[in-house]
Amino acid sequence: MVKRKLSIFCFTSPRRGEVGAQRRVRGIDISVLALKPPTPNHTPQGEREYITPRSCCEDDVMSSPDIILRLSNIESYYGPIMAIRGISLEVPRGKIVTLLGANGAGKTTVLKTISGILDPQKGSIEFKGQPIQRMEADRIVRLGLSHVPEGREVFPFLSVRENLMMGAYPRKDRDGVASDIQRVYGYFPRLRERINQPAGQLSGGEQQMLAIGRALMNRPTLLLLDEPSLGLSPLLVKEIFTIIKRVNEEQGMSILLVEQNAKVALETADYGYVLEIGRVVMNDTCQRLMQSQDIQEFYLGAKEDGARGERRWKKKKTWR
Ligand code: ATP
Repeated sequence: MVKRKLSIFCFTSPRRGEVGAQRRVRGIDISVLALKPPTPNHTPQGEREYITPRSCCEDDVMSSPDIILRLSNIESYYGPIMAIRGISLEVPRGKIVTLLGANGAGKTTVLKTISGILDPQKGSIEFKGQPIQRMEADRIVRLGLSHVPEGREVFPFLSVRENLMMGAYPRKDRDGVASDIQRVYGYFPRLRERINQPAGQLSGGEQQMLAIGRALMNRPTLLLLDEPSLGLSPLLVKEIFTIIKRVNEEQGMSILLVEQNAKVALETADYGYVLEIGRVVMNDTCQRLMQSQDIQEFYLGAKEDGARGERRWKKKKTWR
């Protein structure tokens, strides 16, 4: 007999008492693992001064007194490696904010730090006015913050329905959960068609829909989305982003979006931050970012030939 064993990467993070517990779902042994790695012993030396980016509320388009998420001078490390260096940013309630940046700029680390997967070594994070830095990931989920990780991380041996129910893990209101699962099927009819199919058999696009649907099952007020377009065809990217926009408009859900496809991200979001080597180097409304020559050349593929046919950004070492 083939014995199937699964270690859970649980984006809702298990409760303290459940870490190390074993469960059996449809003949599969599931071990519940803690997500958060131990905080490294490394202690940064001395105080650094960071430039705080202009608040997004200073822009007319974004004027909103209600900031749902505020990061102030956050530093996060992987062991001795400093991955983000004093990042400050804001997400106003009901808006979509995007993080742009090259590979390794620190976008995923910012999301992991917000959702409590990583503890920051310095700085503060306020969610709905409450400090959440160094809070356990499961408590952050219960406050209404869901994270769709890069690479989807669906539970491959569980069915579509079971995956969605895992997203409702912190909830007790059965009626609310039942109506929300129908709402998710409304957004993603393909998931309804595959309700009993193991998630591992779904296509990449369907798995992305499932990962977003699972996060929505927590009825979050803030959704963190990491690279939802990764590996998907242009048609599917369009479909998924249309739904992201719908969720934002219909439910007033605030969204922090990390996306390599800068064109789609800037068209979808209201406000954007550009990261470079762990720092914010530019922030503005997406409308204005799209008009910026650096953004057009570096992220949108526009080519402006100089006297010797060189691209301007190739001559720049950094953004500032
Ligand atoms: P990508 O678009 O490629 O996902 P990113 O902007 O999301 O990039 P991060 O994944 O946040 O960047 O990485 C930021 C920095 O931290 C990089 O220098 C990366 O090499 C480093 N890093 C990321 N994960 C780890 C890890 N588990 N251990 C050590 N270093 C890491």
